[in-house]
Amino acid sequence: MEEKTGINFDRYDNIPVETSGRDAPPPAADFAGLNLPEVLNQNIQLAGYAKPTPIQKYTVPISIAGRDLMACAQTGSGKTASFLLPMITKLLGIEKPPPARKAYPLALILSPTRELTSQICNEAKKFCYLSGCRPVVVYGGADIRDQLRDLERGCDIVVATPGRLVDLIERGRMSLNRIAFLTLDEADRMLDMGFEPQIRRIVEGEDMPSHRNGSRQTMMFSATFPKEIQRLAADFLYDYIFLAVGRVGSTHENITQRVEFVDDHIKRDVLQRLLR
Ligand code: ADP
Ligand code: MG
Repeated sequence: MEEKTGINFDRYDNIPVETSGRDAPPPAADFAGLNLPEVLNQNIQLAGYAKPTPIQKYTVPISIAGRDLMACAQTGSGKTASFLLPMITKLLGIEKPPPARKAYPLALILSPTRELTSQICNEAKKFCYLSGCRPVVVYGGADIRDQLRDLERGCDIVVATPGRLVDLIERGRMSLNRIAFLTLDEADRMLDMGFEPQIRRIVEGEDMPSHRNGSRQTMMFSATFPKEIQRLAADFLYDYIFLAVGRVGSTHENITQRVEFVDDHIKRDVLQRLLR
């Protein structure tokens, strides 16, 4: 099937991917190797995806194994499907909440802007086709009444900007106490936009299940991994696997890249060792 983007996905096979963390499941070679439910395989075909991008090859098995994940990857690496596919797989086995005035979504995706939430929700609609999962998008700067009506028709996956989600919680129109799968997409951008207080309130200050007893699985995505993101990862993720995906075409053939994940307090020592 023809690929719908200008991205040369064959070149992706050469970009470096590094994992660290306890017992990371091995990556899959192709979509068949991901062993996804039939309904998802059909929707992957309908979307025109011929083979998984590197981040998808790594992330989907890790997430299906039930592990939390922190992934650093550039725009265009295929992050959306990498969290939607395991998320929908998990949701297939959970009883859906009936449509009601107050929404009890099973999965939450936080993303920084209206455009990004809309894109993620459109992608989610493709992968949810005939799956029985219903995604709903909510963002600020648009009439909340339309979004409330949409939520009332049923909401299994909510794709939200942090501010609008807090608004819905304050209005008593959404509870997070059934969230089994949480994704923070473009976490660094959300922090740059000043969303940290809202994000912390959503994840730690409301009724979302804890990640400590395994009732919630969490994935975080960020292009960069500064201190603030490391802190969020430490607070939101449990026994997580760290994944770093290189840049397409950025590595010269004669340069060997090695990604090393080090805690802040030993970073200076590691750097000094490298320079010796
Ligand atoms: P990111 O979030 O990392 O920037 P996206 O998930 O938005 O990347 O994917 C970028 C584009 O590539 C989208 O148009 C998406 O539909 C397409 N895409 C993602 N994965 C695949 C794949 N395995 N095969 C073909 N196209 C893909
Ligand atoms: Mg994206």
